Amino acid sequence: MHPQGQVSLFSQTETQTGLFVDVVFPGPVDKSWRYAVPEEWVRQVEIGKRVQAPFGRGNRSSMGYCVAVTTEPPPVPAKPIRRVLDDLPLLSPALLQLTRWIAEYYLCPWGEVLQAVVPRPARLQAGTRERTFVEAILPPLAAPSSAALTPRQQAVYTLLLQLGRPVEWRELLRQAGCGPTVLRNLIRKGYVRQTTQRQATVTPQVAEVPSATSVQLTPAQQQALQAIETALRAGRFEAFLLFGVTGSGKTEVYLRAIEHVVRQGRQAIVLVPEISLTPQTIERFRGRFPRIAVLHSHLSDAERAGFWRQIVAGEADVIIGARSAIFAPTRRLGLIVVDEEHEPSFKQETAPHYHARDVAVKRAQLENIPVVLGSATPSLESWHNALTQRYRLLQLPKRIFDRPLPPVHIVDLRHEPTAVGRPRAISPPLEEAIRTALRAGGQVILLLNRRGFDTYILCPACGHVVQCRFCSVALTYHRDRNQAVCHYCGYETAPPHRCPRCDLPAIRHFGLGTQKLEAELNLLFPDVTKCRMDSDVMRRGQKYGPILDAFRRGDIRILFGTQMIAKGLDFPQVTLVGVVNADTALYLPDFRAAERTFQLLAQVAGRTGRGERGGRVLVQTYNPDHPCIRLAAHHDYVAFAEQELAARRALGYPPYGRMARLVVRSRRDDLAYQAAQTLAAQFRQHLQQLLQREPLAQVQILGPAPCPLHRLRNYYRYQLVVLAPKVFWRNWLIRETLAHTPPPEDVLYSVDIDPLQVL
Ligand code: ADP
Ligand code: ZN
Repeated sequence: MHPQGQVSLFSQTETQTGLFVDVVFPGPVDKSWRYAVPEEWVRQVEIGKRVQAPFGRGNRSSMGYCVAVTTEPPPVPAKPIRRVLDDLPLLSPALLQLTRWIAEYYLCPWGEVLQAVVPRPARLQAGTRERTFVEAILPPLAAPSSAALTPRQQAVYTLLLQLGRPVEWRELLRQAGCGPTVLRNLIRKGYVRQTTQRQATVTPQVAEVPSATSVQLTPAQQQALQAIETALRAGRFEAFLLFGVTGSGKTEVYLRAIEHVVRQGRQAIVLVPEISLTPQTIERFRGRFPRIAVLHSHLSDAERAGFWRQIVAGEADVIIGARSAIFAPTRRLGLIVVDEEHEPSFKQETAPHYHARDVAVKRAQLENIPVVLGSATPSLESWHNALTQRYRLLQLPKRIFDRPLPPVHIVDLRHEPTAVGRPRAISPPLEEAIRTALRAGGQVILLLNRRGFDTYILCPACGHVVQCRFCSVALTYHRDRNQAVCHYCGYETAPPHRCPRCDLPAIRHFGLGTQKLEAELNLLFPDVTKCRMDSDVMRRGQKYGPILDAFRRGDIRILFGTQMIAKGLDFPQVTLVGVVNADTALYLPDFRAAERTFQLLAQVAGRTGRGERGGRVLVQTYNPDHPCIRLAAHHDYVAFAEQELAARRALGYPPYGRMARLVVRSRRDDLAYQAAQTLAAQFRQHLQQLLQREPLAQVQILGPAPCPLHRLRNYYRYQLVVLAPKVFWRNWLIRETLAHTPPPEDVLYSVDIDPLQVL
């Protein structure tokens, strides 16, 4: 029922200010509601603030976002809002427009997007205190005799009139020397009005570092900077793809462009992947820009809310942060930079499934400013956009000082002996290379993109693989805790000694994780200081800052771990990078497997040869002839992209087709299966409707099929994939189909637009 339908006369007479607001409530309804603004809130109400208003059955007080302020009354009498909750708007008009776009593009209700975009601590106003103020107002004209003031009340009222400004409640009580009852009576009789204001109690600080001296740009850097500066001066939207090999000086280009922006009195947002948000990175920016806000996931609520308020107040010139920093409520945004734009962590894995890079481009468009996407291994989407001139390509083809990219040697594991007693993770050539590097005083980075000790537990007699109770995923043995762990849902159990299926008392462990690598390194290099870095180590409360500091000082000689160590680190003394197993992602049932493998190899190779001592890379693989491994060994991104794009085009996959993935899940397999069948039939039916409207529409509907991870967190899952060359066709089809096909009981749908993985 229309919640504005049941309005009492009383509330109408109370709200004759002629001012109305449109309010969007968090939740699944994608619609705004118009409310009246009563006198007492007229001054506070503003677009982007939250309000409390009666909503739904029983007119419960509900929190919603004010998305418009208008004098246009709704067709039916409007109920009044009850309160304005914020003293500062949480969202600027441009950001509101951006959230509207996200709602439409990612097919997520607007209220849910708003709720996801404003960080919880900012909503809770952590680190602030509410203060209550009172001020004198003119008494009602026809005051009934009951409203006459006692001498005491008269005295306080006169004092407030003389002060002529809002005074804090407690302050007034002190000055007037009276108790709270006198004030309450004055408010009740209409002589005094009460207002509240929030004030910060916590001001987050970023420690000062000495300002960095800037270097002389190379000609290639200069060219790139000039192109960006031209767009900055013109004050227009333009998307740049800054394609530069690792160590080519991309960050220096960002810094210069931001200097330009700050001189214009504007702000810049810099997005970096969460794991690159290291002290080293932050210091590089802070050295040039003291007024910086850092938004990472380890902030306390009060700090996060404090930074948010600083940004709103225009006190931060540069905002650097992970994915969600793209929603920073800057006042005059001048530039957005997305470093390592190919990183999957820019995609939010829960609803709304937005991709921060794509949101960044949209925001730049809405705010009419340039955006710079930087990478040594651009996503194929961005590369394609550059080839088709949607983005302007800027290139830094060489490393600074013409340092060569490191030579990459491939170790063919098919021909390496695995004699009994030999360690299994590190082949003889890799062992030899490590010894040589260490002997020469260099440092070593080893990549193994798998956590745990053994990656599966298998019965040699019946072939049974021990799986998670809730997921169709093999459990990984973690020796430090002596537990078998599910890497998807976190389920843990004691590892079995007998096969759970055939009861063979000799179940065995296979596969190789970082913990096993650690044990092997301890055997091979007992006297060398080394450190493991993966999310298990980090979860135990260790921070990577101190580990990286120790590595920089040379106190740690071998750093090994998962993809965490592959990205963004700049240590000139690293002369060897070893990839223990290049094949971990190669055969995942996912169309981006090759792209991921290439990126990871190219990124980790980029960690060496950054100093005068040079460096080299050894890659262990069972697939030495796989094109993506061969091309990564030659640092040949362009050839890789060409080949991979041809394969994608043949299938109509992204970036040629716009993809969406629908997952149907239920705790009961039969229900999920049935619902997926029904949904697929509905999709095909609506496709016919689309073709009647748009005879040229091309849409592929793939599936339904069980997800590669059929069971996840105790849900059985089936998926449908929709592919279309145009966003409009894809989104129209999904919106229409889902609007007419609500999920049956005990079944859930989820829609992932532009999915990064389809597991
Ligand atoms: P990228 O971001 O492409 O990996 P960086 O900007 O981090 O590259 O540059 C790599 C290294 O080279 C850094 O130590 C940086 O300080 C240095 N550097 C960058 N540009 C120059 C330059 N024009 N002259 C000298 N050193 C530079
Ligand atoms: Zn699990």
